[in-house]
Amino acid sequence: MNLTELQALEERYLMRTYKRAPVEFVRGEGARLWDSEGKEYLDFLGGISVCSVGHCNPEVVEAVREQAGNLMHASNLFYTEPMVRLAERLSESSLGGRVFFANSGTEANECAIKIARKHAHRRGVEAPEIVSFDRDFHGRTYGALSATPKLAADPDLGPMLAGFRAVPFDDAAALRAAVGESTAAVLIEPIQGESGIYPVSDETLLAARQACDEAGALLILDEIQTGVGRTGSLWAHEQTPVRPDVLTSAKALGGGMPIGACVTAPAAGEVLEPGDHGSTFAGGPVACAAALAVLDIVDDPALLRRVRELGARLRDGLLAIDGVHEVRGRGLMLGVGLDEGIDAAALGAELLASGLVVNVPEPGTLRLLPPLTVEDDQLDRAVGAIGSALLSYSANQ
Ligand code: PLP
Repeated sequence: MNLTELQALEERYLMRTYKRAPVEFVRGEGARLWDSEGKEYLDFLGGISVCSVGHCNPEVVEAVREQAGNLMHASNLFYTEPMVRLAERLSESSLGGRVFFANSGTEANECAIKIARKHAHRRGVEAPEIVSFDRDFHGRTYGALSATPKLAADPDLGPMLAGFRAVPFDDAAALRAAVGESTAAVLIEPIQGESGIYPVSDETLLAARQACDEAGALLILDEIQTGVGRTGSLWAHEQTPVRPDVLTSAKALGGGMPIGACVTAPAAGEVLEPGDHGSTFAGGPVACAAALAVLDIVDDPALLRRVRELGARLRDGLLAIDGVHEVRGRGLMLGVGLDEGIDAAALGAELLASGLVVNVPEPGTLRLLPPLTVEDDQLDRAVGAIGSALLSYSANQ
């Protein structure tokens, strides 16, 4: 089937929730992708921060193959070893409490929201509230969506859940003022991803931690995009002065297999009880085996150091390009702020045509999320491609 035929079938049978670029990818290896015409691309989007150990990482492929040949599903009514081993690994590498597995990021956040509400009810709060930042992105199911102010404002999708409040991004004073008696949790991304890569300052994170402690609320960090090594530490919060009560993970955790996790500190891990939450597929042996293989690769000080070094190299290279006015983010999670007037969407399309996959989360910003295993020369080639695209863009203006 060629691309035109695919597009016609997609237009007829798929809901119109995504606007796709006119490319069909058929194969991936490391940081490289190939389309159906045999053209090679450098993937600096990594499936939106999913393919952090590279496409078809051999160790992940082998773990999936082996587990799929032994047992694909048994339900949560029985024990399976990959799930229990992964829970131990996630807990011991972060907050030390308990884990609930999910199948996606939004579901991991649903679990966190449920924990926060029940925790608040136990303190006697009648109408618990969850506070997030403007332009935070926490997912598309109704709980997570209600904590995603920009999307929650769409009247066609309402009503949203009650009990969610937004404050201006990175505004420590506004956050402090919004947190009080009835606050169940502050739920924030330590670095906003979907809105264009905007890190929260340490000062605001500390204010959030302090306000939560004073109110008896939980601090929930959504590490769905920042976690699993993306910023140069296993979890982004390790490079900040705060520790959350709950963190959520997904995306890169499964190396391409769908899996999410809600991980708690010890006290928050005791909130949910039998019957409070569940999911048929969550914690399935194949996804958990994949995640264990991913963590074997990523939870390695040498790899994490390299992510920080590569991030610095990428940042320096980008800042030297005419047309780039700032680079935001940490490690290999970078937002490239372009000079005013530059059409980032047109630039992104030009980069794709030239063989570099990036995305444009907001006007004026390119988002780069290359595999953590990217090679030096691939990094330099990407910088070169962005430089050339900006040069020809300005020549054509
Ligand atoms: N939270 C953050 C920070 C995200 O970046 C995303 C997805 O982009 C989500 C939650 C939702 O994850 P999923 O699409 O797996 O439901």
